Amino acid sequence: MVSSEPDRIVVVGAGQAGGWTAVALREHGHQGEIVLVGAEAHPPYERPPLSKEFLRGPVPPERVAIKPASHYRDAGIELRLGAEATRLDRRRRTVTLGDGDELGYDRLVLATGSRPRRLPVPCAAAGRVHHLRDLADADRLRGALASGTRLVVIGGGLIGMEVAAAAAERGLEVTVLERAGRLMERVLPPQVSDYLAGVHAAHGVRVLTGVEIDRVEAPGDEVSVRLGDGRAVAADHAVVGIGAVPNDGLAAAAGLAVRAGVLVDEFGATADPRIYAVGDVARFYHPLLGREVRLESWHNAQNQGIAVGRGMAAGHQPYTEVPWSWSDQYDVNVQIAGCPPDWAVTVCREAPDGDGFTVVSLRGDVPVAAATVNQPREMRALRKLIARGGAMAGGAR
Ligand code: FAD
Ligand code: NAP
Repeated sequence: MVSSEPDRIVVVGAGQAGGWTAVALREHGHQGEIVLVGAEAHPPYERPPLSKEFLRGPVPPERVAIKPASHYRDAGIELRLGAEATRLDRRRRTVTLGDGDELGYDRLVLATGSRPRRLPVPCAAAGRVHHLRDLADADRLRGALASGTRLVVIGGGLIGMEVAAAAAERGLEVTVLERAGRLMERVLPPQVSDYLAGVHAAHGVRVLTGVEIDRVEAPGDEVSVRLGDGRAVAADHAVVGIGAVPNDGLAAAAGLAVRAGVLVDEFGATADPRIYAVGDVARFYHPLLGREVRLESWHNAQNQGIAVGRGMAAGHQPYTEVPWSWSDQYDVNVQIAGCPPDWAVTVCREAPDGDGFTVVSLRGDVPVAAATVNQPREMRALRKLIARGGAMAGGAR
C-alpha cells in the first residue's frame, strides 16, 4: 500500500534491517513521521565484527553503527531506544512499549531479528556460559577470553567457528562440540567444511563431531560439558552457538501468520496490508529460488531493509537478490552465494595459484549456489552468474 497521505510509519527493531528500512523510507521520499523503536540502547549497528574484531580488542560502538546518530536527527527519524515493544494491537493500530507508552501507526515494519537458541539440556554454569548476539555479549566474551585459558564451544556453526578462531589466535586451548557430522553443515558444502576443519586443527583447535550434549555442570571454578557417551570436556568458559530463533512472538500474538518467522511476500508485506517484516525475522517468498526462505545474513538485513523501505515509499518491487554471506576465520575468507537445499551435485575448482578453491552447486548445468575459499573475485562473477541463471562450462561430480 503506497499512500498519498504522509502517514506515520513505526519500525519495531532498531537493528541492521530496521535501521536501513527507516533510512530508505526517508531517502525514497516518505513524507510522514518515521519512528524507530529498539530494545537495545544503541542506534542500529552491524553484528559481523562481534565474533571477529571485537574478540581481539575493544572497538568503539560507533565504528559498527550503520549511520552516525546525527543522520537520524537530520533525516527526521525519531529513535526510541532502550524501548521494547511488548504488544501489537492491529485493530487499534498501536504498539505498546515496555514503559506503557502507546505508539499509533498507519503502517508498521517488524524488524525484530533473532536471538540465540538456548541449550535444550540442563545448564548449571550460567556465569561461565556465553551467547553472542549483541555488543554487551561481545564485551563480556572478550573479558572471558582474556581471563581463561581453556574454552569449550558448543555448536560448530558460524558463531562457534569464528569464536574458536579468535580464541585460538589469543592462545586459548579450544574444543568444539558439534552435533552434526561436519562443521557449518547448514551453510557450507562438505569440501569447505573439511578444509576449515583442517585449518582449525592446524591452529590446535580440537573438534569433536557427532556428539550429543547431555548437560552442562559447574564444578568449582570451571564449566564441564557432559556428553551423551559419558565423556566430559572441562574449560574455564563455554560459548553456545547452536543457532538463532526468530523474534516472531509479537506478530504471532497479534494474529499474523508465523512459521518460524513472520510470513511475508516478495515485497515484505504480510497479509495485513499495513504490516511488513524484514531481516532475520522475515520468512519470505524468494522469486529466484522459487521457495520460501528466512535468511540470517548481513547482506539480506541491509538490502531487504532498503528494498522494503523504498517499496513502501515509492512503489513495490520484488526483492530478488541472490543470498550472499561470508565468514572470516584466521586468514581464511569463505563466501557463500545462493541457498541450496543441499550440495548434491557440485563442481570443485582449485585456484590457479593454489591458494583457495571454489565449489559450485549445479542444477543441470546451471549454477544455483557457490562457496569460495579465498576467492572473492571469483565469487563476484559467480553471484552474477547465479542471478542470471546462466550455464557453466565444465562437468559435474
Ligand atoms: P538483528 O540484528 O537481530 O536486530 C533486531 C533488533 O531488534 C535488535 O536490536 C533487537 O534488540 C531488537 N528487538 C527485538 N525485539 C524487539 C522488540 N519487541 N521491541 C524493540 N526492539 C526489539 N552475517 C553475515 O552475513 N556475515 C557475518 O560475518 C555475520 N557475522 C555475525 C556475527 C554475529 C556475532 C551475529 C550475531 C550475526 C552475524 N551475522 C553475519 C548475521 C547478521 O548480523 C544478521 O543476519 C543481522 O544482524 C540481522 O539483522 P536484523 O536487523 O534482522 O536483526
Ligand atoms: P548456525 O550457523 O545455525 O550453527 C549452529 C550449529 O550448532 C549447527 O551446526 C547445529 O548443528 C549445531 N547445534 C544445534 N543444536 C545443537 C546442540 N543441541 N548441540 C550441539 N550442537 C548443536 O548458528 P550460530 O553459529 O549459532 O549463529 C547464530 C546466528 O548468527 C545465525 O543467524 C548466523 O547466521 C549468525 N552468524 C553469522 C555469521 C556469518 O555469517 N559469518 C557469523 C556469526 C553468526 P545441527 O545442524 O545439527 O543443528
